[in-house]
Amino acid sequence: MKTVLVIVGEQAFRSRLTSGLKEHGWSILEAGDSDLALALTRRHQPDLIICDWQAPWSDIALSCRSLADQKETPSRRPILLAAGNGQIAEKMAALESGVDEYIAKPVDAEALGRMLSRLSANGHGNAEAKPRGGHGGGAETRLKFWGVRGSIPAPGPETAYYGGNTSCVEVRVGGDIIILDAGTGIRKLGVALVEEFQDRPINLNVLITHTHWDHIQGFPFFPPAYNLNNKVTIYGYEGARQGLQSTLSSQMESPYFPISMQQMPGTITIHELKEMNFRVGAIEVKAHFLNHPGICIGYRLFTPGGSISYLPDVELFQQLRTRWKAGAEPAPARVFDSVPEEDRTALDFIRGCEVLILDSQYDAGEYAQHSGWGHSCFEDAVTFAMQAGVRQLFLFHHDPEHTDEQISRMVACARERALRHHSPLVVEAAREGREVLLPAARALSV
Ligand SMILES: [Zn+2]
Ligand SMILES: [Zn+2]
Repeated sequence: MKTVLVIVGEQAFRSRLTSGLKEHGWSILEAGDSDLALALTRRHQPDLIICDWQAPWSDIALSCRSLADQKETPSRRPILLAAGNGQIAEKMAALESGVDEYIAKPVDAEALGRMLSRLSANGHGNAEAKPRGGHGGGAETRLKFWGVRGSIPAPGPETAYYGGNTSCVEVRVGGDIIILDAGTGIRKLGVALVEEFQDRPINLNVLITHTHWDHIQGFPFFPPAYNLNNKVTIYGYEGARQGLQSTLSSQMESPYFPISMQQMPGTITIHELKEMNFRVGAIEVKAHFLNHPGICIGYRLFTPGGSISYLPDVELFQQLRTRWKAGAEPAPARVFDSVPEEDRTALDFIRGCEVLILDSQYDAGEYAQHSGWGHSCFEDAVTFAMQAGVRQLFLFHHDPEHTDEQISRMVACARERALRHHSPLVVEAAREGREVLLPAARALSV
């Protein structure tokens, strides 16, 4: 049985929390002061720490988690969950200080239960504590977001939490490293790879969905491409007018950039794909054309931890939404009674995947002003994911105008939408630095 340590001063609140947790089968330890909390942590190494996010309980909880961290292997790092007043500034501060999840008071027992299942399913809390050395073994799949923004980078204090870099996601299985898109997020990934591998050669595979700037603009600043020991293979499809090689290298031509792609010291190979099923290392990949201006591809990676679908730029239900303008939007189940072919094939493409990273640039109101621009609203992303039986949805390609606060509100609405339709779908907004572990045992959809 898993153990939870509840660090809360107020007796009534502590009792409410513990009774909710008992229903979910947790073994419970309670602490109303610092000495007891530290002693219980030392003795029992709890799997979860829940605290009241106000002084002094928040500080005590952080101390307990550090204590558990020193004693245990990183993979046993306990989840730290903060219960706070629900204000966005407090939530951001809590997450910034290392809290894994934040829940607003008064804590609803059902919401708490759902959150705990989600945290356990995601590989036990804060996966960022795992050591990196992931090359060379193990069937665990690791996914990390390096750039989550759409259209153009959006740095600044109001986007600091979710991040301002454009599309880039890293997926690792054993020794294979796949990078999905080369937006500006790829620069920091490159820095991390160089630091990790030091003098050892790096073999990387980059899958490009399409050649809009926000998906390729980081490549000229990708440090591994500047080392002659490294191999970078770029996969993608022909663009609207010219081949992939020409489109990618032209962004580095003078006068746009001082170094041409051919002058990069690493071995850069561009593999223009014709087939829709192929293999990268040990990973089987399927591709699918998406509704987006020009040529745009979605990828599905079949990993031992289940499949990961990456559809960063797609306009879902474009024809249907035009029809809905005249009347009310139907319930999600009814949407699929008359779904056009392009949406149905996209749905079949992602059906049953473990993780779906999906374009959710707008909300429905904003979408109405941007019909035909090639992007979806989060409401449709949730409907689409629910219908396809996806387990976990990451809202992606955040609008550059959206602040952290707006994105947090969109996630809350998206979760509420899934809940209203009794769907077990887990929804999060992708954020830079967020890492997801998919243990091999969960390989239901391979
Ligand atoms: Zn884009
Ligand atoms: Zn695009």
